[in-house]
Amino acid sequence: MNRVYNFSAGPSMLPLEVLEKAASELVCYGESGMSVMEMSHRSPDYEAIINDAEKMLRELMNIPENYKVLFLQGGASTQFAAVPLNLIKRTGKADYVVSGQFSGKAFKEAQKLGYDVKCIATTKDDNFDHVPVVTKDMIRPDAAYVHVCFNNTIYGTKYGYIPETGDIPLVADMSSCIISEPIDVTKFGVIYAGAQKNMAPAGLTLVIVREDLLDYAEEKMPTMLEWKTMAENGSMYNTPPCYTIYMAKLVYEWILGMGGLEVMKQRNVEKAAVLYDYLDNQSYYIAPVKKDSRSMMNVTFVTGDADLDKKFASEAAKAGLKNLKGHRSVGGMRASIYNAMPKAGVEKLVEFMKAFAEANPKA
Ligand SMILES: *Cc1c(COP(=O)(O)O)cnc(C)c1O
Repeated sequence: MNRVYNFSAGPSMLPLEVLEKAASELVCYGESGMSVMEMSHRSPDYEAIINDAEKMLRELMNIPENYKVLFLQGGASTQFAAVPLNLIKRTGKADYVVSGQFSGKAFKEAQKLGYDVKCIATTKDDNFDHVPVVTKDMIRPDAAYVHVCFNNTIYGTKYGYIPETGDIPLVADMSSCIISEPIDVTKFGVIYAGAQKNMAPAGLTLVIVREDLLDYAEEKMPTMLEWKTMAENGSMYNTPPCYTIYMAKLVYEWILGMGGLEVMKQRNVEKAAVLYDYLDNQSYYIAPVKKDSRSMMNVTFVTGDADLDKKFASEAAKAGLKNLKGHRSVGGMRASIYNAMPKAGVEKLVEFMKAFAEANPKA
């Protein structure tokens, strides 16, 4: 059976080379005589895997020594609660930017915990078609942190710059843009991401946290949510998501082998340009996102006719271009073109879009 081009927003495509490497050592890893899935997380073989994963990620993202790297479970959604529970005690209040559904959920979760949180900017009234501008004067000077979602997976928007928050730690949900391009980690207090968009299969959540921010956890903190405990135990307070961490390691290795995040970015810029250049030079499809907020990872477009949108997604699937239906909350189409999507997949999509437009004239 042939592999398709899978435009799913997550879980999403993994590099074929990574899948093949995993398959080649699925049953027997190295000299261990067993699969990575069957290994004790305390065994020397597994210790080497998790240590390499961290080392490679540090190299890839140029993560400074004063940041901890945590391999956790629970998805990015668990961090919506973990972030305030670990940080808000610093001053007792926090500011949020609501740029889409996930950042809205993060804000609501902190509210639900009864905290003094403030939405300092939102683009809700514009259907989230761009990311809100954040300037230092909008932030409460005694905020414990400012939370942003860096790439809005559902709407296809992203920050093209790092918001300036001065001394106030910036906390970013980077679930759908992590390791897609180089990023200056020192500009952030915390970066977190679910792995299943751009890094690995589902089951792993990455947290990168500056050391000085580990001292503000709530007293009645659930141990599993406490970053400090996880940091002190090398992400092994309990059983980590062993196999998913191994898969992430293979993905990091794959990117390092290609030349790192500069090379990855170049590839991603070229891929996104194929799609956006086409969208900008035709009139059949509408790309709702404002140009300065366009995501490099999730490209959204509509025909303007819900029935045609439906037909598009179903015919594309038949042509081997899967999962192009937009998120259930917004409709239309969304092409998620993460690291693992080759340029040929995007080119094939554009060819399909041209043919579909010609074959389905609008009334
Ligand atoms: C997918 C996604 C989430 C939710 O991630 P889970 O791992 O499913 O909890 C949160 N934020 C962003 C930006 C996402 O893309």
